[in-house]
Amino acid sequence: MAFLLEAYNGILQRLAGSGTTLVAVSKTKPEADIMEAYGAGQRDFGENYVQELVGKQASLPEDIRWHFIGHLQKNKVKYIAPFVHLVHGVDSISLLQEIQKQGVKHNRIIDCLLQVHIASEETKFGFDDAELDACIKIIQASPGSFDHVQIRGLMGMASFSDDQLLLAREFNHLHALFQKYANLPVWNGRFTVLSMGMSSDYALAISCGSNMVRIGSLIFGEREKRTA
Ligand SMILES: *Cc1c(COP(=O)(O)O)cnc(C)c1O
Repeated sequence: MAFLLEAYNGILQRLAGSGTTLVAVSKTKPEADIMEAYGAGQRDFGENYVQELVGKQASLPEDIRWHFIGHLQKNKVKYIAPFVHLVHGVDSISLLQEIQKQGVKHNRIIDCLLQVHIASEETKFGFDDAELDACIKIIQASPGSFDHVQIRGLMGMASFSDDQLLLAREFNHLHALFQKYANLPVWNGRFTVLSMGMSSDYALAISCGSNMVRIGSLIFGEREKRTA
């Protein structure tokens, strides 16, 4: 069991006064670890497996804000729609349409981030710049079709690399996209979240304009690898 209180406090100190939200990424970690972080005051937690998230949400305190940070399959939206606080990984219009549908069903407006592919690897999910632009134009053209989703901003993952220049270039690119789209009237002033930065690169991400970081292993220790 591992909740690393000192590391956690160190991160909070670095974030203090910056207006950056810390999402503690608890995927694969037991509920006891989450409760330790909760005891230290943490309320935003990130998960990326639907089944695991649903199980944890059912048994952990109601005031936890659950972030879904994984790749979301359309047929699983219904399981998290009743309670999810923010869906970070929206990477298609059809996924957004399904979230809209579930938002109607559950009578809530579901906050979402559009995921942008900024890394050099092919394997990561997300829109490329042209697809992002096309997606936003579709929403703008028909806002009523998306009245149960609220696009709150953008999310991205940088390359698996310690080349700081490469990472900074990717983060700066996402920040530029964020600024480009932030003031569109269609968002009603609520496009304010830029989710970028993980354990290994969060300080750099903040210096490039991030205001939401998703940190797992620094807070909870290394994870067992899993394939799913
Ligand atoms: C697992 C994960 C994280 C956290 O990764 P760490 O390196 O453990 O901080 C952040 N974002 C996403 C999308 C993840 O899947």
